Amino acid sequence: MNDTRLYEQILGIESPWSVRSVTLKKDEGSIEVDVACSETMWGCPECGLRMHVHAWEQRRWRHLDSCQYKTILVANVPRVKCDKHGTQMVKVPWAEPGSRFTAWFERLAIDVLQECSTAAGCEILRITWDQADGIKQRAINRGLARRQAVPVKRLCVDEKAVGWGHQYVTIVSCADGGKTRVLAIEDDREENSLNRFWRTLTPEHREAVEAVSMDMWEAFRNSTLRYVPGAAEKIVYDNFHLARYMNRAVDEVRRAEHEVKQGDTVSPLKGTRQLWLYGLENVPRKWAARFRELRALATKTARAWKVKELFRSFWACADPADATEFFRKWYRDAIATRLEPIKKVARMFKKHWANIVTFFRHHLSNAHAEGINSRIQHLIQQACGYRNRDRFKRDVLFHLGGLDLHPAIVQ
Ligand SMILES: [Zn+2]
Repeated sequence: MNDTRLYEQILGIESPWSVRSVTLKKDEGSIEVDVACSETMWGCPECGLRMHVHAWEQRRWRHLDSCQYKTILVANVPRVKCDKHGTQMVKVPWAEPGSRFTAWFERLAIDVLQECSTAAGCEILRITWDQADGIKQRAINRGLARRQAVPVKRLCVDEKAVGWGHQYVTIVSCADGGKTRVLAIEDDREENSLNRFWRTLTPEHREAVEAVSMDMWEAFRNSTLRYVPGAAEKIVYDNFHLARYMNRAVDEVRRAEHEVKQGDTVSPLKGTRQLWLYGLENVPRKWAARFRELRALATKTARAWKVKELFRSFWACADPADATEFFRKWYRDAIATRLEPIKKVARMFKKHWANIVTFFRHHLSNAHAEGINSRIQHLIQQACGYRNRDRFKRDVLFHLGGLDLHPAIVQ
């Protein structure tokens, strides 16, 4: 088999296209595959109307390497001049419109860029940063276009502080089908941030939403009430966030008690913040005795801690009725501590009860989203921060969007 025929087969090139020549350019470390076209009648890429070629334009595409050589496809591509759609280049079978890479190369590049940092990916693939960016952007557009048809049922909304001053992004994720993925990442954490996401869904898809987990954050709540039919029954206040409020209250009690105790001797509460955050079963064994003594000494913090511990069992309630009964007792205990930070959290939970008890119907939390958060953190570290917000958002979708990113290969 001669080399032109070999490359035609490798590249899947068929009539009217053919490989005219293959040139090894040893000094440049490349192989150039010259592709010719024998057809002079083409359809307009927009309307399909067939017409004579108006002009030819030489284009180059990087393909997968041949052994150690960069492999470049070169072809004169027909341009047609449609009365309606103007002058346009016809579509070639080996690459997507506008790309300077073949579909095979883009597939490889996407796989490599998903596994390592952009800098490392560029090094391995021998492409520039901008080229990597272009490949990612095309991949995301492709993925988003393919995604739209599938309704999502169970969503998590979370906020994340990002590097630019005190700025936030709103992250919408979904764990339907087992694999958590980011559906959207929007600027700020305003009502409008989440509105923007809801508006990307069709009314039917908004109706199909079954449950939305979030922090007790009015902006997210209002937005969801506005766009999701029946949202009052579908919003679930996330148990991780609720636990965080509880922990903060315990720590507030500890700090106040610490200050008082510091008056006489060295406070036994010094440096014990973490200890009170543990669940009882997770207190390291070497500290168990100390923690027991501490609870006897620091009676206020111990009281707060006990209420916090009790609240953890809340999530094991069997159903809404069971949970309501549990909460009534727990609330009484919390108020009886006469500790302001604890009472404040208890009252807040009571006020938001309608969307806390929904947990026992939907069993949804932001647990999956927490995983997403740490992966986003990893992305930020890997990229050594992000100079611009759009690039950051793009990378989140590229790595965590669960999108079908690969271009189709025409064989
Ligand atoms: Zn046309």
